[in-house]
Amino acid sequence: MSILDYSALELSKEIKAGNIGVAEATKAVLDHINNTDKNINAFITVADERALQKAESLQKQLAEYRGKEAELSPLFGVPFAVKDNICVKNMRTTCASKILGNFVPTYDATVVSRLESAGAVIIGKTNMDEFAMGSTSETSAFGITKNPADTDCVPGGSSGGSAAAIASGMAYGALGSDTGGSIRQPASYCGVVGLKPTYGRVSRYGLIAYGSSLDQIGPMGKNVEDVAAILDIIAGHDKNDATSADLEGGCFADACVEDVKGLKIGIPKGYFAEGLDGKVKETVLAAAKTLEEKGAIIEEFDLGFEEYAIPAYYTIASAEASSNLERFDGIKYGYRTKEFNGLHNMYKKTRSEGFGPEVKRRIMLGSFVLSSGYYDAYYLKALKVRALIKEAFDRAFEKYDVILGPVAPTTAPKIGTSLTDPLKMYLGDIYTISANLCGIPAISVPCGSDDSGMPIGLQLMGKMFDEKTLIRTAYTFEKARV
Ligand code: GLN
Repeated sequence: MSILDYSALELSKEIKAGNIGVAEATKAVLDHINNTDKNINAFITVADERALQKAESLQKQLAEYRGKEAELSPLFGVPFAVKDNICVKNMRTTCASKILGNFVPTYDATVVSRLESAGAVIIGKTNMDEFAMGSTSETSAFGITKNPADTDCVPGGSSGGSAAAIASGMAYGALGSDTGGSIRQPASYCGVVGLKPTYGRVSRYGLIAYGSSLDQIGPMGKNVEDVAAILDIIAGHDKNDATSADLEGGCFADACVEDVKGLKIGIPKGYFAEGLDGKVKETVLAAAKTLEEKGAIIEEFDLGFEEYAIPAYYTIASAEASSNLERFDGIKYGYRTKEFNGLHNMYKKTRSEGFGPEVKRRIMLGSFVLSSGYYDAYYLKALKVRALIKEAFDRAFEKYDVILGPVAPTTAPKIGTSLTDPLKMYLGDIYTISANLCGIPAISVPCGSDDSGMPIGLQLMGKMFDEKTLIRTAYTFEKARV
């Protein structure tokens, strides 16, 4: 067994037992990145030196803990990757955009400082869709990321680099961000586990904002236990994020038990209608059957409002994006055009040259729906629809503990086939965006593959702040599959 085959929790155990050195594991990962990432392009920045220094200092810390290793975090010594829209102090953070191509944050995101204090080694920053806008990781200014299962296919997006890094053994775990599916969908396309926590469960301090009322940082990993262990570290109240819930983190690992007896799982009929690939449908329904065999009670139901989720999401997400991205003006940080004629011309040229086409499309759409005259007709209407969708989910959760469905209508598409028709690409977010509109937690766990061997994910959505039930259900399924 190669070092790279261990799960994050297994690796940390080996490190604490003295069987593997922190630097040895870090070097193994860095070497693997060196050999493999030219074909995948999962990383925008690899921080070799910093990672090796951290590894050395952790090894010293471990020596001081001889005999009481159990006091160290379950992920002590493990190399992790961080999506490139999450700030790491003194490490270039680009959002995969030319406009932030030279941006080096002066502070750590809360999730990063929590991971590092738990003894994680941050090895680098992962590729993504520019400003997390996209579903394929093809809109990056740093080149396309490829799917390790088939390099002709996309890894999904926007956290495609994080998912591809884990799937190819270039990281034991990673942080992603999910505004409308960006953790779950790439996890599904690459065959790894991804969890979007409840809005407010994990601090967004240091996450470069896309749609602030939808964005949530979450863990991605090789299995459910790893993901629960990462969540244990990053969750919990943070005074630096006004929307952070005043709840303690911790104890998600305890939810990794095989028990779904009597658990009520609802399957929205609308999620299995037109547009869903036959093989994906079959595989996801087979997963539901597995959970039923383990004692869960499965029932189909009418959720309602499914067809309004995409228009509401793209209206709200674009509106928030247009406002959030106003700050990139060539003055405060990031790229500035070389030649200009006066202030307005500088703004205009900087933003025209600095942003890619998908980001510009969202800024224009967002500015339009917020403009006077259209605000009521589009933005306000979308907010009302959001409230109705939330009510539909609240009603469903009166009857069910978990809602089960696919993550995406298809497996990973071929590179180059999605961006030509953005509206069609947006439709691919149909099953994931509701969790963001409602703020509820949702997890993607591998449940099979299609005839070409491309991974398929199972999505489980839960009640607000009930990540534990999701983790328990996903864990039970994962074990039943093995
Ligand atoms: N694909 C969706 C979008 O482009 C979701 C992206 C995300 O979750 N960051 O907005």
